[in-house]
Amino acid sequence: MDLPAPWGAGRASATRLAPELLAAAAATGWNLDKHLVAKLTENPDGVRNYPAVLAKRIADLPKRKPQQAAGAPIPPACDSCLAFHPASAQNPNLRRRDGQPCPDCHPDQIKESA
Ligand SMILES: [Zn+2]
Repeated sequence: MDLPAPWGAGRASATRLAPELLAAAAATGWNLDKHLVAKLTENPDGVRNYPAVLAKRIADLPKRKPQQAAGAPIPPACDSCLAFHPASAQNPNLRRRDGQPCPDCHPDQIKESA
């Protein structure tokens, strides 16, 4: 995982922080992806000691909110969506019926009814 400048940690800091980051991410549900990078590097105004702030943010990493979860499993597409758009198995945006999100398998529809 690479952090954008000026956050990129030196080798010593990176080696020190990597295990903590892995542990923190595992404990809070984050993946090592761009969302975590964005979280760790948000609000850069006033930051002078980037490695120290980074270490503090890793130690204080909040639990990831469920709706932010990238790579969260998407619900399976229903038969009619699969028949209409085979790619809807991977792409929920293709799950439509009569121009509306499919009530049976579109994630938004399922979420609202849950
Ligand atoms: Zn469907």
